[in-house]
Amino acid sequence: MAEETIFSKIIRKEIPADILYQDDLVTAFRDINPRAPSHVLIIPNKLIPTVNEVQEADELALGRMFTVAKKIAEQEGIAEDGYRLLVNCNSHGGQEVYHIHMHLVGGRPLGPLLMS
Ligand code: AMP
Repeated sequence: MAEETIFSKIIRKEIPADILYQDDLVTAFRDINPRAPSHVLIIPNKLIPTVNEVQEADELALGRMFTVAKKIAEQEGIAEDGYRLLVNCNSHGGQEVYHIHMHLVGGRPLGPLLMS
C-alpha cells in the first residue's frame, strides 16, 4: 500500500490549507508556493501516487478533476484568457508529492510548455 503524503492530511482537514472545493471524489486547494497569480492543486481523495498507478476504476475521479478545474478557472476569472493544467510524474517529471495532483496555473501569460 502506498504511503500517505501531506495531501491526505489536507483532504481530512488535519492540517490547514486554502480549500476551494471538496466533494466525495476530489479536493482542490491553493498551492502553498504559487508560481502564478492563480495556482490551485486538484487531487483525487483516493491516494494514487503517480499516473503510473492509475486504474480504470479511477476514471470517475480523474474526470472530476477536469470539471472541477473548469469551475475553479471560471471562479478565478482566468477561463477566458486561459490557463494550464499540468500533472507531473516521478523524478524526471518533477513530481515532489506522491499523491497525484493536477496543477491549475494561470493569471498571467505562461510562456512555452515547460515551467520550472
Ligand atoms: P509537484 O512538484 O508536481 O509534486 O508539486 C507539488 C506541489 O505541492 C508544489 O507546487 C508545492 O508547492 C505544493 N505543496 C506542497 N505542500 C503543500 C501544502 N501543504 N499545501 C499546498 N501546496 C503544497
